[in-house]
Amino acid sequence: MMNDGQIAAVVTKVLAELGSPAKTPQSAPSVPAQNVAAGSVAETAASALSGRGSSSDGLFDSVDEAVEAAVLAQKQLIGMTLEQRKEIIASMRKAVLENNRKLAELAVSETKLGRVEDKIRENILCACKTPGVEDIQTTALSGDDGLMLLEYAPMGVIGALTPITNPTGTLINNSIGMIAAGNSVVFNPHPNARQTSAAVVQVIHKAIVDAGGPAGLVALVRVPTLDTAKELIEHPKVIMLVATGGKPVVRVVLSSGKKAIGAGAGNPPVLVDETANIRRAAQCIVDGASVNNNIFCICEKEAIIVEEVYETLIKFMQETGKAYLLTAEEADRVTKLVVKDGKINAPYIGKDVQIILRDAGIQVNDACRLAIFRAQPDHPLVWKEQMMPVLPLVCVKDFDAAVEFAVKVEGGNRHTAVMHSTNVEHMTRFARAIQTTIFVKNAPCYAGIGLGGEGHTSFTIAGPTGEGLTSARSFTRQRRCTLVESFRII
Ligand code: NAD
Repeated sequence: MMNDGQIAAVVTKVLAELGSPAKTPQSAPSVPAQNVAAGSVAETAASALSGRGSSSDGLFDSVDEAVEAAVLAQKQLIGMTLEQRKEIIASMRKAVLENNRKLAELAVSETKLGRVEDKIRENILCACKTPGVEDIQTTALSGDDGLMLLEYAPMGVIGALTPITNPTGTLINNSIGMIAAGNSVVFNPHPNARQTSAAVVQVIHKAIVDAGGPAGLVALVRVPTLDTAKELIEHPKVIMLVATGGKPVVRVVLSSGKKAIGAGAGNPPVLVDETANIRRAAQCIVDGASVNNNIFCICEKEAIIVEEVYETLIKFMQETGKAYLLTAEEADRVTKLVVKDGKINAPYIGKDVQIILRDAGIQVNDACRLAIFRAQPDHPLVWKEQMMPVLPLVCVKDFDAAVEFAVKVEGGNRHTAVMHSTNVEHMTRFARAIQTTIFVKNAPCYAGIGLGGEGHTSFTIAGPTGEGLTSARSFTRQRRCTLVESFRII
């Protein structure tokens, strides 16, 4: 087992490799050792789905078995010391890094969404920048009336519903945060990401047991369906629910009668004003809108640009070598392909730009990451969460019009917005108007989840229920202990 010093060294090394925003994704980090025990991931995923796995690997045939195991495991966890809990978390982080490439490849091959190199970065981010036990430090207050302690206590068993878009990142991030807070977790993952989700849970489960932790602390329903999701939501021993996905699932958990965290959809605008460093803005927008083929909920989904710098921005985006400007006629063809009956055409979600454009009869080179086009304000991709590397660019007359329009297209999701500007007054005005959970200035969207930006990461960004970028503390309840007339020692 690694000690704290060794873990710190690994984390420091990996974070150094994550790189600065303007350099990515060309400078995707070299990935730390991925081969230790990695050969077993795909095999264990296959065995998991064939039913040969058992509760000893965190996978369960029924919701009830998973929850019962999680109840027992959680009781054992809170009987252990915080030092032991830290060792469990350290072991989880290490195992994810060791199995990173296999998990990333499995995610892309199963879901057909995103890019392997970006999934690798996602996993490093979640393994290294998800806060652990340090996030639930007790606070104390002393005064004339004595002492008050505020402790962050575990909720118990958490039921977590996870999305197809991030079957590695969300499970890693949720597991670390929930267990650091003293809970156990039962996952009902997206059915079309069940193999990857099972593989992640097996890696994490083994790491927990190897570190001396209880089996069943992280559990997964082997064949997840909407029925098993309902069963999990309604299970009397599941105390808290966490849903990461679209609006419907957030609504479902919020109407459960239980404590629930809902992390829903977004449609993040990126606003560029006339004071921005336009070359930098162009690079950042191309990097942000193309990362993982735009399947992150935080990705720039439409650009709103003031007239004065509109054409310059387009020119600089093309000069990155990674953005292809569609002609008006090509943009029509692509739109007909990716929007069907007023909805996003699902088979194109998360696909490489080469595939999308090829199907529209357009050839681009391998370096291309993003298609861009001059869009009218009412274009469907401006208003819908497309989750693919096709970015509409809307021209507006000035900053005031940009703010007004960006607030409308964000749609009240309170999710993410990005801005490129050097005018502090403009920045403040836009941030106040848009009211998003994440507001990124002069960087790609992903700086807002700690990739090349300060702060911890979260793959459950809870706008609807207000927790923001969730962390261990979000999965706790506060307990206060008051001692009157004593223990003020000064
Ligand atoms: P989804 O809502 O279809 O599915 C998410 C999870 O909820 C899955 O496990 C699914 O099986 C379950 N689910 C869906 N409907 C349900 C219902 N009626 N009852 C019970 N369970 C149900 O989302 P997706 O397509 O997997 O993921 C993409 C969406 O998730 C996008 O809208 C994206 O913006 C959002 N997302 C948000 C965040 C965030 O942190 N806010 C993070 C990742 C993804």
